[in-house]
Amino acid sequence: MSRRMPPLEQVPGNTGGHDARTLFGRIGDFLFAQALAPTPANFAIAYAVLTDPSSDVAMAIAQRTDGGVRLNQRDLDELGLSIDQAAAAATPAGAEPQKGETLAARAQTQMEGFNDVVVRMHTHARDFGRDLIASADAIERSRIEQGASRPFVDDVARITGAMIVRVREAEQRLEAARGEAEELRQALEEARGDALSDPLTGLPNRRAFEETFAARMAAGEQLCIAVCDVDHFKLVNDRFGHGVGDRVLRAIAVALGEACEGQFVARYGGEEFAILFDGGVARAIATIDEARIKIARKRLRVRESDAVIGTVTFSTGLSEAHRGERLEQVFERADALLYAAKAAGRDCIFSDGDIPA
Ligand code: GH3
Ligand code: MG
Ligand code: MG
Repeated sequence: MSRRMPPLEQVPGNTGGHDARTLFGRIGDFLFAQALAPTPANFAIAYAVLTDPSSDVAMAIAQRTDGGVRLNQRDLDELGLSIDQAAAAATPAGAEPQKGETLAARAQTQMEGFNDVVVRMHTHARDFGRDLIASADAIERSRIEQGASRPFVDDVARITGAMIVRVREAEQRLEAARGEAEELRQALEEARGDALSDPLTGLPNRRAFEETFAARMAAGEQLCIAVCDVDHFKLVNDRFGHGVGDRVLRAIAVALGEACEGQFVARYGGEEFAILFDGGVARAIATIDEARIKIARKRLRVRESDAVIGTVTFSTGLSEAHRGERLEQVFERADALLYAAKAAGRDCIFSDGDIPA
């Protein structure tokens, strides 16, 4: 049944603005004006209609609403518009979803799938319970009516057979649900791994460093943090290009990881690395110094042209965390020490006590 309604262009708020909240409001206005339920499929269709009026979806809807006719759910169903089509129409060409988005979407889909399985199993178990009660009643009736005669035994065999089939089905569903739950767990783990690692070097990122510091401080461990910054790194970029600069950062990441094996080495940002050492400052200084010498000894070259990049060094500020301190407090000290190491000529380590507190 179609009712008279303002045409699509007159939907309140249809101003073509791009603000997310405005768009959200317009989608809601559209659905309410067309008296459509706010289902995901209708939402996607409204989104497609409002963001790209020249899309096939929008044109088809415009035809239906021509002359102020209100849409109804059957119209949409008749048009055969699925949520996927609408979503595809709403996605700008060439807009690749981010990996994190893909994973989150995958996890969401799997979660919904898993939920469906659980709901189905619940229904199944309830039906099974009902069947069992009915079967028990039937057996009892059969026993009273027929005594322990042949038909009674047949009944029992039939009912038992049906029960076995049901139990097998339930087992298969449970197995499928377990498989889905495992996939979901892996997808979420992967998404979380992505959020905590640096894509260029593969090292843990700043967020991972912050979380690890907080967890280990809370566990009462004795910790030091080293902030290492590559010296004159801008020159590497300027002379050899950003791509070579990236490779140099990767090489430093590998060397630092190897030299500080067993310690938590992270890329904190840009050309800055942070290392979380367990134990006191003396051992941390010794380890960092080994890494410093190892890296300074490398004679880096550009693979393709064999051009000499030369030596790349880094400077370090190193400070011990006091009980109950927040990362910002320790980091501030380490950063001041790093600054002093730079001022002192670079390629060196400054730790607590090297500058007045
Ligand atoms: P200093 O010894 O004082 O630290 O000098 P610097 O040149 O290393 O320091 P500055 O802060 O002037 O420059 C840092 C440079 O690091 C600039 C920036 O473009 C570069 N950089 C930051 N992140 C990346 C990255 O991911 N890849 C590349 N190739 N360069 C980066
Ligand atoms: Mg820097
Ligand atoms: Mg630097």
